[in-house]
Amino acid sequence: LSERLQSTLKKVSGQGQLTESNMEEMLTEIRLALLEADVNYQVVKEFIASTKEKAIGADVVGSLKPGQVLVKIVHDELVHLLGDEVSEVDFSKKPTVIMMVGLQGSGKTTTSGKIAKLIKTKYAKKPLLVAGDIYRPAAVDQLVTLGKQLDVPVYEKGTSESAENIVKGAMNYAALNNNDVIIIDTAGRLHIDEPLMQELANVKEIAKPDEILLVVDSLTGQDIVNVAASFNEKLSITGAVLTKLDGDSRGGGALSIRHITNVPIKFIGTGEKLDAIDLFYPDRMADRILGMGDVVSLVEKVQDVYDEKETMKAMKKMQSGRFGLDDMLDQMHQLKKLGPLSGILKMIPGMPSMPNLNDETTDKRMKETESIIYSMTLEERRDPSIITLSRKQRIAKGCGKDLAAINRLLKQFEQSKQMMKQMSNMDMATGLPKMGG
Ligand code: GDP
Ligand code: MG
Repeated sequence: LSERLQSTLKKVSGQGQLTESNMEEMLTEIRLALLEADVNYQVVKEFIASTKEKAIGADVVGSLKPGQVLVKIVHDELVHLLGDEVSEVDFSKKPTVIMMVGLQGSGKTTTSGKIAKLIKTKYAKKPLLVAGDIYRPAAVDQLVTLGKQLDVPVYEKGTSESAENIVKGAMNYAALNNNDVIIIDTAGRLHIDEPLMQELANVKEIAKPDEILLVVDSLTGQDIVNVAASFNEKLSITGAVLTKLDGDSRGGGALSIRHITNVPIKFIGTGEKLDAIDLFYPDRMADRILGMGDVVSLVEKVQDVYDEKETMKAMKKMQSGRFGLDDMLDQMHQLKKLGPLSGILKMIPGMPSMPNLNDETTDKRMKETESIIYSMTLEERRDPSIITLSRKQRIAKGCGKDLAAINRLLKQFEQSKQMMKQMSNMDMATGLPKMGG
C-alpha cells in the first residue's frame, strides 16, 4: 500500500497551494493507509475531515509537490494526536503503585516483568511484583518464574485467596520490606465481563494505584476501541502499553487508544524478552502508521531551508539599512538548521577557502556570539551604534566575556553588514550579481 501511496504522490502535481481538488486523491490513499494500519474507521473518518480542513491553503514551496506537503501535514497531525511528547511514568513517589489491566494474552504479566527490570536497572529502585491473577495456577507460576529470573520478589498466595486480599497483603509486605514500586499483575479475560471489572475496581480501591496501565495487544484490530472504552469507563486508566509491536502491526491501535481514552501511551512492547520494552515516541509511531518517513523528512528539509518570507524580510531590512544584531541572530539560527556549517560555506560560490574553519570552532563562535547578543537589550540589538563603552562593560559582565570579545563581535557585524549590502545587489533568483549592478 505504501507503494501505491508513493505513486499517487508522484501523480499529483500543480504548484502553489493545497486545494480541495489536488488533495482529493492523496487523501483517499492516506485514508486507506490508516485503515490498513488498523486505525479504527470512525477515528479515520474524523481524522481525515479535520486534517483536510487544516491543510487547505497550505503553501507548496520550492520543488515540493502538493502530495508531499499533505503527507507532512498528516504526519504532524498524527504526532499531535499521539501525544506530541514522550510521556514517562513517574517512579519518584514511594511507594509508586502500578496496576496492570487488560484482556487475557495482551501481555500484562510479561510487561510487569519488563517494568520491574526497568525499575531495577535504570532507576536503581526496589520493585515488588504482585501475583493478582488468581484464576490460573499457571499465571502465578509465570510471574514467579519472571521474578526469579530478575531477582525481584514476587508476592503471591497461589490461587487460594481473593485478589483483594492478596493486594492488601502485598501493600503491607512492601511497607515492611521497603519496596519503592509495587507492580500489580491482574487477571484478564478473553472478553470483558462484569465480574472481572468489579474485581479490578475493588483492587483499585484497595491499592489506590498511581498508575493504571491498560495493556493492549497491537494486533487487536478494530475491537481495540471497545476494549479501551470499557476499561477506561470502569477504571479511569492513566496510561496504556501497546505490546507486540515487533510483529507486523503498523501500530494504528495507538491512535485509537488515544482517541478513545485521551491517556498517554507510556510504553511499547517489542518482543518476548524482558528488555524488549521502550518508551512511546509519537513521531516514530506516526512514521510507522503512515509509512512515509522519507517523504516527511524531505519536506521538513525543504521547508526549513525555504523559509522564503524570513529571507525576504531580512533582505528588505538590509537594503533599508535597518539590519540589526537581532536579525543576524535569526539568520544564524536559519543557517544552523541547514546542518554542519563548513559544508554550507563550501557550497557558496566564490567563498574563499578557509583551512582553519571546522565545525567545532564555528560552533563555538556561534555560541559565543549568541550569548553576547542575548546579553544586550532589544534596542542595542536593533541599533548597535548606540552601544557605548559603559554599555559594552555591562554586556561583557552579563555574558561573562571580556570587552575584546564584544568589540570583535561588533566589528564583525559591521563587516558582514557591508558584505550583505553587496549581496543584496545580487539577483535573488540566480545568485549572480545583477547586470550592471
Ligand atoms: P497476559 O495474559 O496479559 O498476562 O499476557 P502474557 O504476559 O502472558 O503474554 C501473552 C503472550 O504474549 C506471551 O507468550 C508473551 O511472551 C507474549 N508477549 C507479550 N508481550 C509481547 C511483545 O511485546 N512481543 C511479543 N512478540 N510477544 C509478547
Ligand atoms: Mg498474565
